[in-house]
Amino acid sequence: MTGKVSIGDNDVLLVVDVQNDFCPGGRLAVPQGDEVVADINRIAGRFKHVVLTQDWHPAGHLSFASSHPGRQPFESIEVAYGPQILWPDHCVQDTPGARFRDDLHIPHAGLVLRKGFRPAIDSYSAFYENDRTTPTGLGGYLRERGLARVFLAGLALDFCVRYSAEDAQREGFDAVVIEDVCRGIDVDGSVAATRRNFAALGVALLGGDDVG
Ligand SMILES: [Zn+2]
Repeated sequence: MTGKVSIGDNDVLLVVDVQNDFCPGGRLAVPQGDEVVADINRIAGRFKHVVLTQDWHPAGHLSFASSHPGRQPFESIEVAYGPQILWPDHCVQDTPGARFRDDLHIPHAGLVLRKGFRPAIDSYSAFYENDRTTPTGLGGYLRERGLARVFLAGLALDFCVRYSAEDAQREGFDAVVIEDVCRGIDVDGSVAATRRNFAALGVALLGGDDVG
C-alpha cells in the first residue's frame, strides 16, 4: 500500500502499549520506543476513532521471569497454554511504568483496552490472550461500532502490534500496520518472523507519511 490513504468513518487507529515501561528508561524498554509518540499524536488527529491498549499486569504475573525461580528474562518456558517468553517485571497495575507516556496526547480516544490482567495468562494481542481462546472483547466492540479497517501503531512491532494485527486480520477486519510508527524488541529473529507472517496473512504495511 503506498500513497496517501484517506481515513474514513469505518477506520480505527489502534495505539498499542505506548507506556513508560516500554520506552527508554522503562523496565522493558523497546529501543527508540519514545520516537513513535509524536508521530502517533499527529496521525491520531486524522482518525475519528482511536483505541488505546494498555498492558496491565498484576504483581507476580506469570509472564515475569521473577515469578519463576532460576529463570531469566527473555528465556522461553512451557506454560499451560504453550510456550511463553519470560519478561522483566513490567507494566504492573497502577505503577508509573504502566502509565501511558506523558507526551501521548490523544484526548479523543474512545476506549482504553487493558490486557494481561489475568495472573496466569499473558496477552500480546489486543483481541485474544496468549491462550488464544480468551477474548478481550475488542472484536465485538469494533464490530458493534461498525469499524472495519484497523490501523496499528506503537510498541512493540514484533509482539503486541504483531499479534494484534494478525488477530484483526483473522477476525475479518482489514489490518494495516503503520510500520515506521512502531519499534521492535527483536527476540530470536522475531522481527523477521513478524514480516513473514504479515505477508502470509495479507496484513498491509504503510508509512506514517501515507496517513498524515
Ligand atoms: Zn506484558
